[in-house]
Amino acid sequence: MEASTSARAKVAAAVAASDARAEPTPFSLELSDDQRVVRDWTHGFAEQVVRPAAAEWDEREETPWPIIQEAAKIGLYGFEAIAQFWADPSGLTLPIVNEELFWGDAGIGMSIMGTTLAVAGIYAAGTPDQLVEWVPQCYGTPEDPEVAAFCVSEPDAGSDVSSLRTRARYDEASDEWVLNGQKAWATNGGIANVHVIVASVDPELGARGQSAFVVPPGTKGLEMGTKVKKHGLRASHTADVFLDDCRLPGSCLLGGKDRLEERLARAREGTRAKKQAAMQTFELSRPTVAAQALGVARAAYEYALDYAKQRVQFGRPIIENQAIAFALADMKMEIDAVRLLIWRAAWMGRTGQAFDAAEGSMSKLKAGEVAVWVTERAIQILGGNGYTREYPVERMHRDAKIYTIFEGTSEIQRLVIARAISGLQIQ
Ligand SMILES: Cc1cc2nc3c(=O)[nH]c(=O)nc-3n(C[C@H](O)[C@H](O)[C@H](O)COP(=O)(O)OP(=O)(O)OC[C@H]3O[C@@H](n4cnc5c(N)ncnc54)[C@H](O)[C@@H]3O)c2cc1C
Repeated sequence: MEASTSARAKVAAAVAASDARAEPTPFSLELSDDQRVVRDWTHGFAEQVVRPAAAEWDEREETPWPIIQEAAKIGLYGFEAIAQFWADPSGLTLPIVNEELFWGDAGIGMSIMGTTLAVAGIYAAGTPDQLVEWVPQCYGTPEDPEVAAFCVSEPDAGSDVSSLRTRARYDEASDEWVLNGQKAWATNGGIANVHVIVASVDPELGARGQSAFVVPPGTKGLEMGTKVKKHGLRASHTADVFLDDCRLPGSCLLGGKDRLEERLARAREGTRAKKQAAMQTFELSRPTVAAQALGVARAAYEYALDYAKQRVQFGRPIIENQAIAFALADMKMEIDAVRLLIWRAAWMGRTGQAFDAAEGSMSKLKAGEVAVWVTERAIQILGGNGYTREYPVERMHRDAKIYTIFEGTSEIQRLVIARAISGLQIQ
């Protein structure tokens, strides 16, 4: 009798536990209806408009304005679009859109998404009024779209952004900022409607003596330098930008003068309060860039998978050889692992979690390296065809390489992660 009561209790407990498991849990990798709709809509644009035009714009090495216009017309390019993607409380929509668009083509994708870098700069440093004033001007209108540029790097300051030489001097008499210097490698540099320039206000303070400025359309003293001829991402415009006594209204200092004075005073006292805030900002944007690399990797993998099923050698499709099939299995596994790192970091950023182990950098590092590796494997699977411009995987490989270089090289990402996990100033 005792035993049967106890057995009944155990069964009841097991039933209760299984009921509890049927309840929705807070963790889910299932996308919402809204996320699926945006993903499929972006994919449709990437498949029907971007992918068919990719080879042409890569060869032309020009900004694909007609495609930017198409994107603006359907609402994929513009400040409302970016606000809608950013509004997703899970943080996943922005990476999902980037993955799909860059699946279409990375060069064209960067021509469409490059503006987001400048917008992120305004968002990170600007006041709400400055956001309202400048973000729409970054994009222009659906009828007449514009692009924007975010200019930090210089010929002698790439990874080491603390050593910027571009100077910003305040002219009290006219309430103007005067910028002088040279920016290197700026995406959309010189063709942008709005340039966001990071310059040094107090060189002795290194990175903490720097500020971001908006250069309004048509400002005198800003000139485009040489347009760079690149290995990949060739539809995206990259150029030097020269600033020669470039005068800006005082209101173009992002964040305003009071905030700058406070920040400089803190830096002179040696207070370290803002270090974490700057780190959080970088970690926030890295999953989006990582998602671009993921799109390129997935495109190359899918192409190679289809090819391997069709290409016959020795009387059977080449995929029936383990050497090829296992390579594809590894490619798929790495791609899915990258996506999980990206979604984790994007969710952490959107929900305000601390990036204690530099999870944003992890996603960018892994995505860049996987994109280079997967696209190289795809060329191998296509053999001689993979090496020609008749097939898209060689372009994807050229495009993928940038993701181990810009927005922080792979070495710099490792440095950031190593410092975060160790708490030490690893060199
Ligand atoms: C296509 C393209 C678009 C770009 N777009 C923009 C843009 O829109 N805006 C912008 O501001 N910049 C842009 N950049 C610049 C880009 O961010 C820099 O190229 C990048 O940060 C690396 O700087 P660097 O080229 O000067 O290389 P360097 O800093 O000179 O690095 C050279 C090598 O040394 C390694 N290295 C450097 N320091 C260390 C260290 N401490 N430990 C270990 N290794 C180290 C690097 O990892 C790299 O392998 C773009 C670049 C390209 C190519």
